[in-house]
Amino acid sequence: IETVNKIAAGEVVKRPSCALKELIENSLDAQSTLIQIKLIEGGMTLLQITDNGIGIHQADYPLLCKRFATSKIQSYDDLSSLTTFGFRGEALSSISQVSKVTVCSRKQGEPLGYKGIFLNGNLIEAPEPFALDKGTLIKSENMFSNMHERLRALGNHVEEYKSCLDIAQKYSLHYNNVGFKVLKLDSLEYSTSGREDKTEIITKILKPDENSLAAQILEIPPTQNEICSFQGLISSNDYSWKQSYFVLFINNRLVDCKELKSMIIGIYTSYCPRSSNYFVYLSLKILPSEIDVNVHPTKREVRFSHQNIIFTEIQNKIQEILKSNST
Ligand code: ADP
Ligand code: MG
Repeated sequence: IETVNKIAAGEVVKRPSCALKELIENSLDAQSTLIQIKLIEGGMTLLQITDNGIGIHQADYPLLCKRFATSKIQSYDDLSSLTTFGFRGEALSSISQVSKVTVCSRKQGEPLGYKGIFLNGNLIEAPEPFALDKGTLIKSENMFSNMHERLRALGNHVEEYKSCLDIAQKYSLHYNNVGFKVLKLDSLEYSTSGREDKTEIITKILKPDENSLAAQILEIPPTQNEICSFQGLISSNDYSWKQSYFVLFINNRLVDCKELKSMIIGIYTSYCPRSSNYFVYLSLKILPSEIDVNVHPTKREVRFSHQNIIFTEIQNKIQEILKSNST
């Protein structure tokens, strides 16, 4: 059973950035307005996240890292109305299968915080009082040190760091009303205050060479049809980016969609033959019944029931914006 749990967990948490994504979502679910992330050796040695959210009650510690333990669904009826992302109580349990997890948390209004240490899904020491402000600190240490196969399959620290940074940047952009701070060891990578608009966030996190960035970012205004609604930001055709970015949030969760990405690459290659790089950020809201998230165990890749209608609409909108910008 031990081994089976480990293999399953290793499928959910393939690399540090997968764990980071889950931990950020937990902090956001807990209504945090400030999230601090600290990474040592690409999150392998240490991946730590501190938030100022609602906190975890001392009584909830024993179940915290148990599989399928979640505070977010109360009854079966909730399942259908839930946005289909998230692991429904699998994230912390999986992270505690592949690393040592320390949770320190203080609930709002409680005089004290508590600290608990988890290994293989179990609380290994009774929670003891711990001084901290309202909110939660979660630490994952020495990821995969007990799983040599998985360790070998990973990239080096630099690659893992880049992947973690990428996740943090994308969440900082989408949740621009939440302050994010990212530390690499003890040096600040970037921070946002929660008061910048999205274009300012792009400048902050992607640090482009030129200051005239704002003029090169075009808005996709809110658009709605009977299946979905979307809005976003895209680069104009006369700005050459250091690299391409495709950021897709569906129902406020970061996801991948290969087909949508290739469609966007197609638009940019035909409209902007001079610069092959682009920046596209899309936020889509859609009924959970219209998407299938079970394509991949990590649930990042999505498919749509009415792909053609949605894609055509997004394509038309982007082409229209690029066309009117170039005339
Ligand atoms: P899920 O998010 O699907 O419920 P997780 O394993 O990610 O499952 O988290 C388990 C539970 O731990 C959550 O339901 C929540 O009650 C609690 N939790 C985790 N992280 C935080 C946090 N940062 N602040 C408050 N509660 C948290
Ligand atoms: Mg979660």
